[in-house]
Order: sequence, then C-alpha cells, then structure tokens
Amino acid sequence: MLKDLEMVYHVWSGSFEDFETAYREVAEAGITSIVLTALRGNLDLRERDQALEAKRILEALHLKAPACHCIDWGTCHLNEADAEDHRAMIELHSNFMRNVAELDCKTYVLHIGHQPQYGVTREQSMDQVRRALDALAPVAQSLNMTLALENGMEKYGYLVTDSELLALVADYAHPAVGICYDSGHAHITDDAAATLHLLSPYVVTVHLHDNDGVDDLHLIPGQGTINWPSVVKELAACPKLLHMETEAANCTGWPPSQGVWSYRDVYARYREIFN
Ligand SMILES: [Zn+2]
Repeated sequence: MLKDLEMVYHVWSGSFEDFETAYREVAEAGITSIVLTALRGNLDLRERDQALEAKRILEALHLKAPACHCIDWGTCHLNEADAEDHRAMIELHSNFMRNVAELDCKTYVLHIGHQPQYGVTREQSMDQVRRALDALAPVAQSLNMTLALENGMEKYGYLVTDSELLALVADYAHPAVGICYDSGHAHITDDAAATLHLLSPYVVTVHLHDNDGVDDLHLIPGQGTINWPSVVKELAACPKLLHMETEAANCTGWPPSQGVWSYRDVYARYREIFN
C-alpha cells in the first residue's frame, strides 16, 4: 500500500544556508524523513565528521534520512572512461555511502552517465558501468543499502534508454542494484506511467516532480502535465519500492518554480496525491 510508504522530503540543494535551521523548519512542518545529498547548507557530508554532525542534528529533530542522492558533479558517473577517473569515482561513492550509512540511509541514487566521447564505444562504456557496479554493489550490500540507477533522458545525451536500463539491471541481477524512477525524466522521454510500468520490477525508490513534457522543470506535482492518477496506480504495483522522494525544486534559485510554497504546503500536496 502506498500509504504505508514514507514520503521522503528533498530540500533543494542551494536553497538554504544552515543545516540545523532548515531542517528544524522541515520538522516543524510535520515532515518525518528527508533526502540526503553531499552538500547540505553548511555541512559537507563527504566529510565523516560533518556527516556525524548531521546525524546528531537530525536525531534531535526526530528526522530520518532513508534516501540519498549521489554526488552528481565532477567525476561521478558510472561510465567514467579514464582509468584514474573511474577509480576516483568508485572511491567517491564508496566513501560517501559509508558516511550516509551512519544515518541509516537505505537507497543511494546513481547517475549512469552520458554517451561516450573520444573514441570510446557504447559497448566499452556499458562495460565501465558494469565494472563500477562490480565495485559498488558489494559496498552497498555490506551497508544494508540498495543502489538505485536513475532513468535519464535521451534528449540530454544519457547513455542508456529506459529499456536498456531495465535490461542492465535485470541482467546484472544483484540484490543491491535496483532502479530509481524519476517521473519528470519519464514524462519528457515518453508516457510517465508507461515508463514506470516498464521499470516497476526493479524500482526501489522514486523521484516525484512535474513538468510540461518538454523541460526538466522540477515542479510540484499538479503544476505540470503529468497524469498523476495513472502514475499512482503503477507506483502501488511496484513490488520493491522502499519509499518515495519528493524532487520539486520550489525555491527562488530555480527560475521555473511557480512561486515558493511552505514546506508544509508542498508536503501536503505530495501526501494528497500519493497517499
Ligand atoms: Zn531525479
């Protein structure tokens, strides 16, 4: 049942300065769990002592942190082609996963990467992805965490299509490797509900946000053109779904935002649609 799943609230990166102040407001809005990323206001969770400081603050506020979005800048993609970059990427994600595991994080969303350049073939690029999973899946498993590979958008040069993502995860067949379904990306690529239906056997977490079917606007559900009732129906049929994540930007620093709502109002909209 969807109503038994937690709605994990994502406060948009760069929309706040002080970790404790922001999450106190989040807790006061009645929210009970939040999405982690590396840079959270004044705290850098790549640093172990700062991750432990975040843990202390969240515990005091009675906020859980079951979901994490990977570092998604620099050498962070699973298909990093250069050998040294590939090693650095594995190191980066492994260290960050160890830090967020201290906060009882359960899902770690990863970006596969873009089409290869400089003479690297698609096949070689896919091998690099599998090699990254060979290194990262055992780390995730040992931390009681599941990697969630996110569906991207072909129009932005993403390496895999949705059916290739499905095939990759199905063939890899590792208990700590699943899929993150992003509703906004799916709506741009195809029909949002049909894509969720396709990926559903392996979906462990979801990024829920709306758009106009053209650009990745990260709007609050209902502000775009996604047919939410059909997405909700498919969500309820995902056998491995652990929780749902909000991913509306809802801040002045993100120009497509249609005004800025209070955390409480955004959360209420999500609860209304998905519970
Ligand atoms: Zn996303």
